[in-house]
Amino acid sequence: MAKKKDITRTKLFKMVQSFDEHDAKFRPTISDCREIWRNINRNVFNNELKMPSFRLVYTRAFWGECQGVLNDQTQVKMKINKSFLSKRLFINTMAHEMVHQWEWLTNENMTHGPQFFLWRDQLTKYNITLSRCYRMKHYRLK
Ligand SMILES: [Zn+2]
Repeated sequence: MAKKKDITRTKLFKMVQSFDEHDAKFRPTISDCREIWRNINRNVFNNELKMPSFRLVYTRAFWGECQGVLNDQTQVKMKINKSFLSKRLFINTMAHEMVHQWEWLTNENMTHGPQFFLWRDQLTKYNITLSRCYRMKHYRLK
């Protein structure tokens, strides 16, 4: 049996904890997106996903959006909101979109069904919350 990995020593785990401590409004940069994406990919998705192209958008419609590239299951485009109420919400959103990226890679079907929640336990180990959606009406965007 493989040796059990000490998750609390990973960079991803430490990042999530520090996000908790400094809970405040957060405006991500593209490099923030790439950094957290890379850590989640390494620790949760076994490096199986390919770096998406990110775009920061100002919208009241969604926190994040994942769009599969037609005729290429390995490629997605992600739109990430320019302004989050906390880093925590940013990281949860990224994890959510990455599950969609994995779904696109696996069967080109993005859902919030049982295959989506296959990743919930793994993410919970890092204190990352996977929810069906992070409805914006629950928050006030300024
Ligand atoms: Zn979704």
